[in-house]
Amino acid sequence: MTTNAHNSAPPALVPEEDAIFLDFDGTLVDIAPRPDAVHVPEGLADLLMELHAMCGGALALVSGRAMAELTAFLPQFDGPLIGSHGAESRGLDLPGQGEDGVGDEADLAALHARFAAFAEAHDLLAEAKPHGAAIHFRARPEAEPIARAFAEEMLRLCPRLRLQPAKMAFELRPEGATKDAALRQVAKAAPFAGRRPVYLGDDTTDEPALIWAQAGGGLGVKVGEGGSAARWRLEGPGAVRAWLAAAIEPEREGYSWAG
Ligand SMILES: [Mg+2]
Repeated sequence: MTTNAHNSAPPALVPEEDAIFLDFDGTLVDIAPRPDAVHVPEGLADLLMELHAMCGGALALVSGRAMAELTAFLPQFDGPLIGSHGAESRGLDLPGQGEDGVGDEADLAALHARFAAFAEAHDLLAEAKPHGAAIHFRARPEAEPIARAFAEEMLRLCPRLRLQPAKMAFELRPEGATKDAALRQVAKAAPFAGRRPVYLGDDTTDEPALIWAQAGGGLGVKVGEGGSAARWRLEGPGAVRAWLAAAIEPEREGYSWAG
């Protein structure tokens, strides 16, 4: 990862010309102590729906979260979703990527049980995913080394999964399931094809997608602090929401909409 020299806010969106891809946690909503405790600001779904209509449907959420969680957080948003790093999707012609990463259902259940037992024993948080699992150490940052060692041990048991380090978490995800691979696929088809790709994300999992958007002549926007290959930066989810809202109501300047 390269550290970019630019920390400027991105230029305005052009909804008639842009294909907009948005990460969820840390990008549209603030990171919470537990992944199930994020606060979704009132008006966020309306904002996304309005922008989705303005760009002819070319707006999708792209998350490592399971689809069921995304729909639970944003029940009013019925636009395209990419969940589980591309292993699941809604409203898109996207074959599930790496869906068979773990093996059969029994293998997945066993993996989830091992993550749950480890979390219980070490006062951490396990997250069962439809095609993998994650261990979160946000509540106990000092546990990072044992969380990593555990994830690496599990990886040896499930060689078709990949270790995905994330913010205060280690995740095992299917080999083929990455956000940028999903986007390469999605961007070939209507309504996204031929538009300028715009990607916003806050985490290491977003870096390849940011690079992809920029390579396609689009905007890569890093959200929050940290090194990134992105050309542009917004300071946090509040600034992201204000920047999106400004595309709907250009007169609403100064990033006043923070929900
Ligand atoms: Mg994120």
